[in-house]
Amino acid sequence: MDYYSSYITKLIEEFARLPGIGNKSAQRLAFHVMNQSDEQVKHFTDTILEAKANVQYCKCCCTLTDKEICPICASPKRDASTIMVVETTKDMAAYEKTGQYEGVYHVLQGAIDPMRGIGVNDIRLRELVERLKGDIKEVIIATNLGVEGDATALYLRNLIKPTGIKVTRIASGVPVGGDLECIDEVTLLRALDGRIEQ
Ligand code: ZN
Repeated sequence: MDYYSSYITKLIEEFARLPGIGNKSAQRLAFHVMNQSDEQVKHFTDTILEAKANVQYCKCCCTLTDKEICPICASPKRDASTIMVVETTKDMAAYEKTGQYEGVYHVLQGAIDPMRGIGVNDIRLRELVERLKGDIKEVIIATNLGVEGDATALYLRNLIKPTGIKVTRIASGVPVGGDLECIDEVTLLRALDGRIEQ
């Protein structure tokens, strides 16, 4: 038997689809929304729609940005011959927070994950291959350390190595399975400094 209105049930189902939201949290969020004023709910949904309408992938590094070319790719102060490959815009932000990295990035928007059917064509690899035709001195692989990140790193290494471009992988200090965004700045910088040639 349905205890709630089917509208609420549908709302709970939508929240439960979000990453990291279990059934209990989804219920809590749905009832929270029902208790909000119409203006609050409209502000929330407008914010989602606006973000979705205005944010796009940078034409160069594939990060999420509201410009055609993101501020990092557009900056003349950045060393465009060093590309750090990360999985997500959040990982890129973690390195940017350290304020120490002067190269540019490439954001894959995911990692190879055969278990979930995510292959090389489902992440932003083709765009990276295009960029490697330019004047690139080093590619730093900074995918997360874990099964998917490692599989992606190995694929990248085998792809880039034959081009003669130097390939390195961020090193020790980053805990296995650790998400880059959760790691403190000192650890991130140590991992970057200690990167190992592949
Ligand atoms: Zn960019």
